[in-house]
Amino acid sequence: MDYPTALSVEDFTRNLARVRARIDEAAGRAGRGADEVRLLPVSKTVPEDRVRLAIEAGCHRLGENKVQEAVRKHDALLETDVSWSIIGHLQRNKARDVVAIAQEFHALDSLRLAEALDRRLQAAGRGLDVYVQVNTSGEESKYVLHPDDVLDTLARLAAFDSLRVQGLMTLAVFTPDTTRVRSCFRLLRDLRDRARDVDPGLVGPGGLSMGMSGDYEAAIEEGATVVRVGQAIFGERSTPDSHYWPTHEA
Ligand SMILES: *Cc1c(COP(=O)(O)O)cnc(C)c1O
Repeated sequence: MDYPTALSVEDFTRNLARVRARIDEAAGRAGRGADEVRLLPVSKTVPEDRVRLAIEAGCHRLGENKVQEAVRKHDALLETDVSWSIIGHLQRNKARDVVAIAQEFHALDSLRLAEALDRRLQAAGRGLDVYVQVNTSGEESKYVLHPDDVLDTLARLAAFDSLRVQGLMTLAVFTPDTTRVRSCFRLLRDLRDRARDVDPGLVGPGGLSMGMSGDYEAAIEEGATVVRVGQAIFGERSTPDSHYWPTHEA
């Protein structure tokens, strides 16, 4: 895939318009409204001067995989109109940083992490929108919930007042085989539907955070309500994804 690097506000405006047009088309194919799908631009590895241009082009919520990088950008861009979503695995000792700077967290993968976040949030007197991250690819992973554990985890999360569950999140398997990619997205949707059948309140509004630059259209066709798109907006990344996904080998 060829993703040109955006170096001006005009470049960002163009890339965003392209992605939004494809979101509209994918939603249309699925008989869904484009307003059912939120585009979350992902600015990881992108330096602050270019992030500023993206904000000028209208990106007022940005996703970052690593909380240290998010804290750095948050502090550097305090005067701008932007808020932050953390979308990558979080160590419990970094819960405080998420509470300090983020509006949303997409990678809640254990009850121990939920407990750490809740404790910090209670102390700060605030809540946090969260998505529970599920392993739908079947790839070996130290982190990320097994699909069999999702219902039980959702039920236990209800005890943490400060965590507002918004839905489920996943990363599809990395393969050009679209059938396998789609089956990851379908599994996430099925898990959401099963949770709703058990208890309509279990999974909040039932959002599905799934789809990235290479597969967001398929994700939308399978029901995504949030797509996390980096390279198609900012340009190709040189950092290998293994740096951001400790579970995936380079
Ligand atoms: C980087 C990242 C994305 C976006 O990936 P692109 O290929 O840049 O679109 C989505 N989700 C997570 C968790 C990521 O770390």
